[in-house]
Amino acid sequence: MPVVVLEDIHKTYRLGSEVDVPALRGVSATLEAGEFLAVMGPSGSGKSTLMNLLGCLDRPSRGRYWLDGEDVAKLSRDRLAAVRNRKLGFVFQSFNLLSRTSALENIELPLMYSSEGLNLREIKRRATEALELVGLSDRADHHPSQLSGGQQQRVAIARSLVTEPMVLLADEPTGNLDTRTGIEIMEIFQKLNDRGITLIMVTHEPEIGQYAKRKMIMRDGRVVQDEPLDRRLVASEEKEKVPVPADDDEVLP
Ligand code: ADP
Repeated sequence: MPVVVLEDIHKTYRLGSEVDVPALRGVSATLEAGEFLAVMGPSGSGKSTLMNLLGCLDRPSRGRYWLDGEDVAKLSRDRLAAVRNRKLGFVFQSFNLLSRTSALENIELPLMYSSEGLNLREIKRRATEALELVGLSDRADHHPSQLSGGQQQRVAIARSLVTEPMVLLADEPTGNLDTRTGIEIMEIFQKLNDRGITLIMVTHEPEIGQYAKRKMIMRDGRVVQDEPLDRRLVASEEKEKVPVPADDDEVLP
C-alpha cells in the first residue's frame, strides 16, 4: 500500500473577498514506503503549499489525499492534528529548537505531548536513542546556543524521529548550513531512509536534491517533472571531498 496518494490536488488561497490565488492546480503523485523525494522548483511554484498539505497543516480546496491509507483531505483540524502527530515528522530550515532547554529535553518534548502516555523513563530512553541515531550522544546536556548549526539540525532531526513517524517532511533542511554540513545532514537522511523512513524534502539547492531517490519539479502550481534519480549521490562518499570548515564542531561557551 502506498504511503502517500495525492489525486488532483488543488489549493486556492482567497485574498480578501475578490482575489483567488491558485497555488496548486492539479497535483497528483503516489509515494511508496521507503521513497526519498526531493521537491524542487522556483519560488512561488507551490512547494510550501504542497508541504503544508502533505503535513496535514492545511486542507486542499479540491482533490483527495490518502496518508497511509487514510483519507485525510476532509478531516477536521483536530483530526488532522492527531494524524500529524502520529504519522509525520517535521524538519525545518531554522531548526526551531527551544533555546532554554537541553538537546535531550528538546527531543523529549514531542513525547511529553503525545497521547501515548509514556512514563518519564521511557521518554528519556527513546530520546536518548534518537540522539544516538544522529550521532550526538555526547551533547545531550548542551543547549542549542552551545551547538553548531549542523548539530542543532541533528537535534531537530532526532526530535522529529522520536515519535517514530512513517514520513519525514523536511523544508529546506540545509538552507542555513554550509556545504559540508549540508552533506552530513543528507548522510543522516540517507541512513534513515535505508532504515525504511519515507522522506519528502523541499530544497532549492540542485546538489542537495541529488541525494534523494526521486525528483519532482514544480512550476506554477503543477508538477512538470517527476522521475527517479539515476545518478544519485551517496553522502558518506561526497562529504570526504569537501573540506571541514574551520569552525566545525565549535562549542560556544
Ligand atoms: P513556493 O514554496 O514554491 O515558493 P508557495 O506555495 O509559497 O510557493 O506559493 C505558491 C503561490 O501561492 C504563490 O503565488 C504565493 O504567492 C501564493 N500563496 C502562498 N501562500 C499564500 C497565502 N497564505 N495566501 C495567499 N497566497 C498565498
